[in-house]
Amino acid sequence: MVYRHFSRFLSRHLTRCLLCSAACPHPSGICGPCQADLPALHHACDLCALPLPDGASRCPHCLRRPPAFTRARAAWHYSFPVGQLIHNFKYRGDRVAGRALARLAAERLMPVAEPPDLLVPIPLHWRRYWHRGFNQAQLIAAVFGHQWQIPVMPRLLRKRTATNTQQQLNRGRRLGNLRESFIASKKVRGLRIGLIDDVITTGATLEAAAQELLNSGAVEVSAFALCRVS
Ligand SMILES: [Zn+2]
Ligand SMILES: [Zn+2]
Repeated sequence: MVYRHFSRFLSRHLTRCLLCSAACPHPSGICGPCQADLPALHHACDLCALPLPDGASRCPHCLRRPPAFTRARAAWHYSFPVGQLIHNFKYRGDRVAGRALARLAAERLMPVAEPPDLLVPIPLHWRRYWHRGFNQAQLIAAVFGHQWQIPVMPRLLRKRTATNTQQQLNRGRRLGNLRESFIASKKVRGLRIGLIDDVITTGATLEAAAQELLNSGAVEVSAFALCRVS
């Protein structure tokens, strides 16, 4: 009993905020004032989460051709300091940063109406997985699944081809690059699936993964990410 009080005292007073180093009682590891300063994504396309000016509800891409997924949601803009925390998480193995963002994003993105039956992280190709040692989307999906009480199936999707880095390609080129690059290991007939990724860049990765899940019988695919590139 005494020990429990003592360890609670220690964790409250010795845990430091990841961003400002102040004493941080919040379980995410990011203090209240720093959370308020994160670049929240308030106005975005209903379908693909692209940041939009106030008032607009669909981006030009989705007006022209709606995506295969029903909707995508992201907690923040891909900008400072979220971008740096994600970079440290993915490329320097800073799982504390990844878990902190995932916990806060889970609070912001909690699905209220018709939650998914199953969460599925976007997979890495085995070669990249081997190089990195972990899949960042899988860690995020585990946190979301825990907080939303939704089962996670980390190996439902497999990445068939090692696509080159997508950053330099436009949306059309990315889609061509990714077509049929995901394979579902089993049928998901009648299920609503929530795809999980760290960053939505153009939506092309989600589009390819959603298409494969719909081909495998899913009735609906939605997507949740930490942040969205403008
Ligand atoms: Zn702070
Ligand atoms: Zn859109």
